[in-house]
Amino acid sequence: MTFRTRFAPSPTGPLHLGHAFSAILAHDMARAAGGDFLLRIEDIDRDRSKPEWEAQIHDDLAWLGLSWETPVRRQSDHLALYDRALDRLWAQGLLYVCTCNRRDIRAAASAPQEGGDPAFGIDGLIYPGTCRAHHDPGAPRPHGAALRLDMGAAVGHLNAPSLNFIETGRGPLGETGDIAFDAGDLVTLAGDIVLSRRDFTGSYHLSVVLDDAEQGITHVVRGEDLFDATRLHVLLQRLLGLPTPVYHHHRLIRDDQGKRLAKRDDARAIATYRAEGVGPQDIRAMVGL
Ligand code: GLU
Ligand code: ZN
Repeated sequence: MTFRTRFAPSPTGPLHLGHAFSAILAHDMARAAGGDFLLRIEDIDRDRSKPEWEAQIHDDLAWLGLSWETPVRRQSDHLALYDRALDRLWAQGLLYVCTCNRRDIRAAASAPQEGGDPAFGIDGLIYPGTCRAHHDPGAPRPHGAALRLDMGAAVGHLNAPSLNFIETGRGPLGETGDIAFDAGDLVTLAGDIVLSRRDFTGSYHLSVVLDDAEQGITHVVRGEDLFDATRLHVLLQRLLGLPTPVYHHHRLIRDDQGKRLAKRDDARAIATYRAEGVGPQDIRAMVGL
């Protein structure tokens, strides 16, 4: 199997040290395996994505000495792919329309009879399921509406409730392991996640699995903050009949206080370091590569 990986930033801010580490690592792993390194622009959120950030991503990655396959895939060019997958899941009765706003969800999730504080899961606040009851399975799929995956129904739809994926680089020796889990656990760990937004088609979880499959990605290299999300991705792959790549979740680059770097952490933006005269080899050294 040829090794094919990708770096998939969202053009919603500057690349910082954490991104540089992820991109260099994926790139170096691909080169060492004689495989391919791809760049994918995850820009389905048209309000937050900006062309200048996209240009800066290209510029910073080239400056770091990386090269990638062209043409570069841009998610906003493939909304029809996400749309078809949503049609399919809708026809299977696995999606429902959600009209709640954040405040509704917070209020329902923390209602006294539900037991106090709203529960946070793999995908943030666990949706209390309010709109599931109003679902009309016979209705045509509406557009411009938020769609949630009925997690219970999705789990019931699988013919094998046990899911798994291969993970490399786990543990102190960097061993390869088989991570198995019960799909049913996702009902309490994640709940009914959003697969399409009111203001744009698709969601991170939906588009990432469709694009990885479409681009023939064999190895996903990304931060360990996404380790739990991988279970959602494996579930979606199973529901959509897509292959599951090998996953490599790498350590996160932290700031001096040990805090994770955030998108808006401009002090650690690659562009800031460049302006200060730091070189690409210095960046590699700073992230321990
Ligand atoms: N656009 C996502 C991010 O920047 C990609 C994550 C992934 O590699 O799956 O966090
Ligand atoms: Zn709702």
